[in-house]
Amino acid sequence: MISVFGSANMDLVAYVSEAPKRGETVTGHRFRTVPGGKGANQAIAAARAGADVEFLGAVGDDTFGAELRATLSEAGVDVRGLRQVPGASGIAHIVVDDDGGNSIIVVPGANGTVTGPSGGDLATIAGSRVLLLQLELPMAAVVAAAQAAQVSAVPVILTPAPAQPLPDELLDAVTMIVPNEHEAAAITGVTGADAALDALLERVEEAVITLGSEGALYGSRAGERLRVPAVKVRAVDTTAAGDTFVGALAVARAEGLAVAGALRFASAAAALSVRREGASTSMPTRREIEDSLS
Ligand code: ATP
Repeated sequence: MISVFGSANMDLVAYVSEAPKRGETVTGHRFRTVPGGKGANQAIAAARAGADVEFLGAVGDDTFGAELRATLSEAGVDVRGLRQVPGASGIAHIVVDDDGGNSIIVVPGANGTVTGPSGGDLATIAGSRVLLLQLELPMAAVVAAAQAAQVSAVPVILTPAPAQPLPDELLDAVTMIVPNEHEAAAITGVTGADAALDALLERVEEAVITLGSEGALYGSRAGERLRVPAVKVRAVDTTAAGDTFVGALAVARAEGLAVAGALRFASAAAALSVRREGASTSMPTRREIEDSLS
């Protein structure tokens, strides 16, 4: 079983010719609500890639909360550890203009109320093969979850997004960190994937820097280094490619695959997701991933 301790957000996406300036009202031409949040996305990606997944986090007592719970559940994710708290669920308010540029307001809502794992959460984390963490919950909660996993020798895979300074107490409990190249540069202050990887390995045992259509770069303190090319596909929508990559990587690691095979599995899953529009709905099933690898 894989546990995910993370965020669930409803993305509210408005499409306009030009984003409104202060004091201005504009008419948009399309609107949609899309269940998201990096935690929920990674949980769904891992479930679709074939794992038993438990999601630990919080939603509000609004209709978005009910919808987020239903989306996770329909994807096969165990939501018994998803709390409902009074108030609003987390949302991301996204304006996309005709040039494809966007501006985003994230209001953490229920995600911001999450403290460390407690009670049943601790048993869930202790019983998992891998714990997935991101940085869309309060840092103290993320640190507490990582430390709970460490106590039980459960490997922790961290997606350091949104990028921010990472306390040693967090990284000391993390097994593998998986930033994209922008996050890697922001965290290390170093440009260039190889140099950033070296800098990350000074603080964490294993690191993978994802490089979009250029694939991914893996390194370990043990001295292993691998460059994994992306699978060539016609990209339609790269939203949540990173979350699909991490979800699938966790599944492969939980099943005991060696690192090269696990990275190939993750790349195949992420490539399949960019061929389709959407976030959770674009994530491939186990069957699709295996077919694409054969
Ligand atoms: P996002 O924020 O959209 O979730 P990200 O910036 O976290 O993505 P990326 O580095 O863009 O992550 O992509 C993650 C992985 O997805 C890559 O390592 C690669 O395997 C795959 N991928 C991304 N874009 C493409 C593409 N155009 N073609 C094939 N594979 C891709």
